[in-house]
Amino acid sequence: MTEVLGIGVSKGIATGNAYVLSKQELESSEYTVEDVEAELARFHEAVESSDRQLQALAKQFGEKSSEDAKDVLEIQQMYLQDDEFRGAIDSYIQSKKVNAETAVKAITEKNRQEFECVEEEYFKQRIADIQDLSARLLRNLMGVAEADLSDFPKSSILVSNDLTPSDTLAMNFTNVVGICLASRLRTSHTAIIARNMGIPAVFGIDVGMVRPKMPMIIDGENGKVILDPEDSVREKYKKRIQLEHIQKQENSKRSSLPAKTKDGKIISVLANIGNVKDAEVALAAGADGVGLFRTEFLYLQKNAPPDEEEQYQVYRSVANLFNGKPVTIRTLDIGGDKQTEAIKLPREDNPFLGLRAIRLCLKQRDIFRVQLRALLRAAENRDIRVMVPMVGTIAEIDMVYNAVQEAKESLKKDELPFAKDIKIGMMIEVPSAAILAEKFAERVSFFSIGTNDLSQYVMASDRTNENVAGMADPFDPAVLRLIQWTLKAGRKSGLNVAMCGEMAGDRMAVPLLLGMGLSEFSMSPASIAEIKEHIRFQSVDDCVKVADRCLAEGSIKEVKRILA
Ligand code: PEP
Ligand code: MG
Repeated sequence: MTEVLGIGVSKGIATGNAYVLSKQELESSEYTVEDVEAELARFHEAVESSDRQLQALAKQFGEKSSEDAKDVLEIQQMYLQDDEFRGAIDSYIQSKKVNAETAVKAITEKNRQEFECVEEEYFKQRIADIQDLSARLLRNLMGVAEADLSDFPKSSILVSNDLTPSDTLAMNFTNVVGICLASRLRTSHTAIIARNMGIPAVFGIDVGMVRPKMPMIIDGENGKVILDPEDSVREKYKKRIQLEHIQKQENSKRSSLPAKTKDGKIISVLANIGNVKDAEVALAAGADGVGLFRTEFLYLQKNAPPDEEEQYQVYRSVANLFNGKPVTIRTLDIGGDKQTEAIKLPREDNPFLGLRAIRLCLKQRDIFRVQLRALLRAAENRDIRVMVPMVGTIAEIDMVYNAVQEAKESLKKDELPFAKDIKIGMMIEVPSAAILAEKFAERVSFFSIGTNDLSQYVMASDRTNENVAGMADPFDPAVLRLIQWTLKAGRKSGLNVAMCGEMAGDRMAVPLLLGMGLSEFSMSPASIAEIKEHIRFQSVDDCVKVADRCLAEGSIKEVKRILA
């Protein structure tokens, strides 16, 4: 039995068996071959298998796939027949008398180095194609199957170095009870998806220690992973799972009731969702509405952006489900760690500081217009509010209003019904927006504080860079002061201020945020019942004292000591 500590990113306990998704480089050793002809034949067989697989993929994507996706497949097929690549591997096997795996790796590396020296972007992008193709050839040479994300055995605990948001979307989670990753990124979108789905997850684990099918336990609350647990430990955790289940049932009995503090203040507890299914889960979990609908999830895993009708149907369905409760829908936030085939983005060295979210929408107006038209149509006779992400300047907000006006005029021309008076609000997640909150408050209908981005931008720490992501912590006094500043600006202007960053679903933050005056919390559906229950134990007067003490501190350690 081995016990390892990592970072708990999604609460709950799971027991199951490891399902190792191998994304790491395939391990193969170098050896010399006597029969060069036989080795060449083995390589050519792998080439043929790879070619068949690429053809099948092209067929599977079919006509609907984007030009980019088709290009990638075509380019890889071309390399398979190309002298510079395939021919070079043949020659390497012949001249060095080594196994095909070694030759594939050597020629891939040679191509990578050559392409990296070329200035033109086109060649740099080909490196990924060659590496992808090389991994396919190696899998075929070594008889390793491609990871199938559509079906997992019962009680699987997924173990991997990392998962991209697209990987996570392609997965069928039916039999997945837990997630264990080497990545340390608490606010990555994979972590957010795990929390939304209520799947216990621990990150920051040396996954090399985990063997396929190994029995394991995930403790998402304490960030613990136990490999090969002894029977007594297994029993102990089984009991904890039962207790957790009872506690959840207790909490959920009251989850649909309002969260009222001991001194009678009603707090709204809303849900963060990414699709209609999440909305159903959130409603059942007792959400008082939707505080954040991350619409980018409708664009991921697609070859083209969803059209107006598709978006209209989704927004309408979510609002209908919530039947009069508020539904805040955020306009597209692509960029940063969220990339999609559906929208062409320039390659950037600093994507989190680049063309992301509203910046992109204001550049690619066609995409924005389609979304605004769908939102305006869905909002007719429904409490749908529009929220704009990553706003940093007043000029951007002015441009958003112009775009909304244009969308309204085009709908009028098309004689389609739409909401004439829709509420437009903005995320406070860029420091400039927090600093100028008072000015933005004159222009928008509401704020929602996005602590995930606000922390990374205030602390200058990329939330997806494992070496520094830990510094992007919303409990840092510098971030707390900007949250307080935003809440004050909202109060002064009579503007509603919510919070939809991960901090709002963190139990430890509840007294602090209540004390600072927050009255609208939005979080993963899985946290709603627990946070509502926790709010019921607080009195706002006491919370104000806690918040004052925290805000007087200069070190995050002291803040966390006060809240512990
Ligand atoms: C945030 O930044 O806090 C937020 C809610 O947005 P996202 O995590 O989707 O960037
Ligand atoms: Mg954000």
